[in-house]
Amino acid sequence: MGKLGNATAKAELGRATWKLLHTMTLRFPEEPTQNERDALSSYFHLLSRLYPCGECAQEFQQLLKKFPPQTSSRRAAATWLCFVHNEVNTRLLKPTFDCADLDATYDCGCGDDPVTPTSSAKADSKATPEPGTGTGVVHDPMDLEFDPTKDKITGVGMIKGGR
Ligand SMILES: Cc1cc2nc3c(=O)[nH]c(=O)nc-3n(C[C@H](O)[C@H](O)[C@H](O)COP(=O)(O)OP(=O)(O)OC[C@H]3O[C@@H](n4cnc5c(N)ncnc54)[C@H](O)[C@@H]3O)c2cc1C
Repeated sequence: MGKLGNATAKAELGRATWKLLHTMTLRFPEEPTQNERDALSSYFHLLSRLYPCGECAQEFQQLLKKFPPQTSSRRAAATWLCFVHNEVNTRLLKPTFDCADLDATYDCGCGDDPVTPTSSAKADSKATPEPGTGTGVVHDPMDLEFDPTKDKITGVGMIKGGR
């Protein structure tokens, strides 16, 4: 990754990235699965390779070697990231941040995790099977690649009214 010469762009990118990362760790599960832990760790390692400011990325890679991501819980992840951000602050001669203020600073107003659907909602959604399956398999409304005009298996266009 090349050097990011424009200081203003570098600072804006940094602020936006830190905001995303801190908010993400503060929304990380309290008791993550191994899969979630691996995902968070990979995320930081991939970011350190692809971050579009070459010198920042290199420094961040060194930092991750010295202080590998802590992913055992939300608190562990958020505190680790706060510590790592403070390491960057110190190198850039910026004031350090009090990690006790994390929750107040990054209150995203996101609320609690979504409640699982009620049994009646589940029953309703079963009424719309995916085309081409004929098995009553429920279509995930968040599957943005799902195209209801095509048969799921063959990709052939569906006849209007045939669903
Ligand atoms: C991974 C990464 C590596 C970077 N490496 C470099 C580099 O090598 N060289 C370079 O010039 N720039 C680098 N940057 C950018 C740099 O860290 C700053 O983002 C940029 O200089 C703007 O600084 P800022 O003073 O506005 O505050 P930022 O450091 O961007 O912080 C934004 C806000 O986060 C809060 N904050 C500060 N510290 C913490 C903390 N420890 N925990 C939680 N919240 C905190 C404060 O409210 C602050 O105003 C990097 C950014 C990232 C994401």
